[in-house]
Amino acid sequence: MSTKIWLSSPHMGQGELGFVKDVFDSNWIAPLGPHVDGFEQDLSDFTGSKHVAVLSSGTAALHLALILAGVDKGDEVICQSMTFSASANPIAYLGGVPVFVDSEADTWNMDPALLEKAIKDRLAAGKKPKAIIPVHLYGMPAKMKEILAIAQEYDIPVIEDAAEALGSTYDGKACGTFGKYGILSFNGNKIITTSGGGALISDDEAAVQKTRFLATQARDPAPHYQHSHIGYNYRMSNVCAAIGRGQMQVLNDRVAQRRANFNFYVEELAGLPGLTFVKELPGSFSNRWLTTVLIDPEKSGGVTRESVRLTLEKDNIESRPLWKPMHQQPVFEQAPAYLNGVSEKLFADGLCLPSGSNLQQEQLILIAEKIKACWK
Ligand SMILES: *Cc1c(COP(=O)(O)O)cnc(C)c1O
Repeated sequence: MSTKIWLSSPHMGQGELGFVKDVFDSNWIAPLGPHVDGFEQDLSDFTGSKHVAVLSSGTAALHLALILAGVDKGDEVICQSMTFSASANPIAYLGGVPVFVDSEADTWNMDPALLEKAIKDRLAAGKKPKAIIPVHLYGMPAKMKEILAIAQEYDIPVIEDAAEALGSTYDGKACGTFGKYGILSFNGNKIITTSGGGALISDDEAAVQKTRFLATQARDPAPHYQHSHIGYNYRMSNVCAAIGRGQMQVLNDRVAQRRANFNFYVEELAGLPGLTFVKELPGSFSNRWLTTVLIDPEKSGGVTRESVRLTLEKDNIESRPLWKPMHQQPVFEQAPAYLNGVSEKLFADGLCLPSGSNLQQEQLILIAEKIKACWK
């Protein structure tokens, strides 16, 4: 069988090994060191966020952002339903209750009208949500202008899950920099990777300082170990940060390549009956982390996302259904949810195609041929 074509695999550049060698030469093999500081500066320069704390994962970043937002046992947090479980799990770590909000059809992200309905409803029931977590799914910017206006009106902080959207912009500004806090991920499948890692970004210096404090066991300033707060071991290692510094040198190339993949698929597949792509709205720029398609079986002559997925799998090509909405997950069955049917339809009809920046042209051609054959 041919070598496996992955959905999204790590893609190292020329510089990473040099940075890692420097780590070994200098013996900064610890969750602190010059590359931790350097990677934070690189991310601040790239996103325009004033302050950045690099951490062990995007999930850890969300956990700490929720702590900064004051989420405690029994508190409600509004979260986009159409997302990966890591957007919602940290709410449960704190004993909080996720309140899920469905998506709108044009960006697949949090529906602003439904968000407002959910807030009004929770307020009427006597509970003010402690935070709002919108997500930029697959790199596509959410409608941040509308979401921020509602968040401001009700005075609720926004924690922007930009784990999939490094390199995406909305009105010319980096995704992740709109909310009070933004979070990024450098997991192995993301647009750049440190093997595993994440970041919390914010213009609020005190908040980012507190993030670093909480992420390093919450040590009070004293010569002995003194703690007046529960701490976490969430800081990024200098080894991982060194990889990150190398990856930052190629981030713009990675975005360009992922967008080129998307354009290739559009050229090849756009004419297939029932197959559609999600479009950028005016003012939105997507990193196209993953190219996704919807296949409507009523218009495709019976082709489904699952029949395409199984066809690709036979040829050792990985594809995957879109995220299964959180309100449909057994673990979140009890959580309140404000629904409009969009995310359930996206899950039923949507497929993520191989989208790595290291895909070869002949691999892309092969994938497109296999997909087109499903319609024959
Ligand atoms: C990857 C991802 C996360 C979590 O990031 P990790 O670094 O893997 O912990 C959070 N939210 C979304 C939407 C993601 O895709």
